[in-house]
Amino acid sequence: METTLWRIRPHTVPVWALACARCGASWLESTGRFRVNANGRRHDVWLIYRCPGCGARRKQPVHRRVRADAAEVPLDAYRRDDPVLAESVAFALAPGVPVAYAVERPPLPESGPLRVRIVQPRFCAVRWDRFLAAELGWSRRRVQAAWRARTLCVEPACRASAPVRDGQCFSVLELRCRPSPSPPRSG
Ligand SMILES: [Zn+2]
Repeated sequence: METTLWRIRPHTVPVWALACARCGASWLESTGRFRVNANGRRHDVWLIYRCPGCGARRKQPVHRRVRADAAEVPLDAYRRDDPVLAESVAFALAPGVPVAYAVERPPLPESGPLRVRIVQPRFCAVRWDRFLAAELGWSRRRVQAAWRARTLCVEPACRASAPVRDGQCFSVLELRCRPSPSPPRSG
């Protein structure tokens, strides 16, 4: 069976799940900016977050007291607020925080089998059952039933509540929905 690539792209970066000390908003968003302080040869680096409610700012440590010549510390990139680095740091600071995403993929075939490999350079922390329900247009119950019946398989195997990871594949034996009588609606 041919394998199709589906690319999961985040719309944004993970938030910092920390309540704002000023207004009580329940999370802070990255500004994409760093703060770098030099103390002799040692440097502190923070990523700056902002409250979406009141604009209060708060720093989250990225490096503490690192030497300027340490290979893993791209000080120049921090100083110029390199956007790719800011994105990468925001993901590293909040592993497992769900992120809104889009899926770039070809249209689903009308019927027949499907095998897909996931490409997800940034971990978006979406559950498999929720992801498949949204992308296949199935109910969550149908996804879970197919999962149990193994007409829908994920490799390497995991639980339906586990997050989708880069490089995993899934296959569906038959995409077409069997017509089922819809329940009568009242009102
Ligand atoms: Zn606030």
